[in-house]
Amino acid sequence: MMGAYFQNIKNGFTTVFEGMSITFATMFVRKETVQYPEVDITSNKTIAEKYKGSLMGMPDNYRGVLILENGLCTACQICQRTCPIDCIAIENAKCDKTKPTDKDGKPVLNRFTQKEAIKTRALTRFDINIAKCMFCGLCEAACPTGAIHHTKQFEMNRECQEDLVLRFVSDGEKEIAVKRAEEIEAEAEAKKAAKAEKEKEAKEKEEQEKGAEE
Ligand code: SF4
Ligand code: SF4
Repeated sequence: MMGAYFQNIKNGFTTVFEGMSITFATMFVRKETVQYPEVDITSNKTIAEKYKGSLMGMPDNYRGVLILENGLCTACQICQRTCPIDCIAIENAKCDKTKPTDKDGKPVLNRFTQKEAIKTRALTRFDINIAKCMFCGLCEAACPTGAIHHTKQFEMNRECQEDLVLRFVSDGEKEIAVKRAEEIEAEAEAKKAAKAEKEKEAKEKEEQEKGAEE
């Protein structure tokens, strides 16, 4: 009776230590599970650093939420015309002729012609309605400069549907672009008027000379 009593105490201690030894052992090895959403599971690097097993990050060609790199976009509207379900809404205005450059300052090439991309219009609106998007990738494939592309981002929880419209041009940027377009328009008008005035003067002079000769 007494022996069984002490045996139970001993068992109590040993089982606690057995259990705790497993707990301690797993504290110092990489985990099998991912604490989603705290951990970024889109990145292979994060997963490789913290977890073991066969879990991988999102594949490189994963078609997640779209993003626009404004600096590369020439406002050509090809992606808008390509989208089969009208998710993309683009508006643009005349701008100074420029050549877009990438983040290293190198000129951006048109992927199809391999010539330097030229920008003559600026974005005044670039909206993507992610609620409608079916992630087909057609806009990305059609974009000559690689400005629009899919990310690995797959979460888009929002409180209302309006928030699922991604806006890539701010009101301030729109204001600047519209103002510059008006200035360009005014400069062109002034040039045209000056040219017409010059032609008129030349014509009058010619007629005067002709009259004097007669
Ligand atoms: S991924 Fe497809 S559906 Fe979505 S915006 Fe691009 S073309 Fe349209
Ligand atoms: S994202 Fe590409 S295709 Fe769309 S307007 Fe910009 S440059 Fe053109």
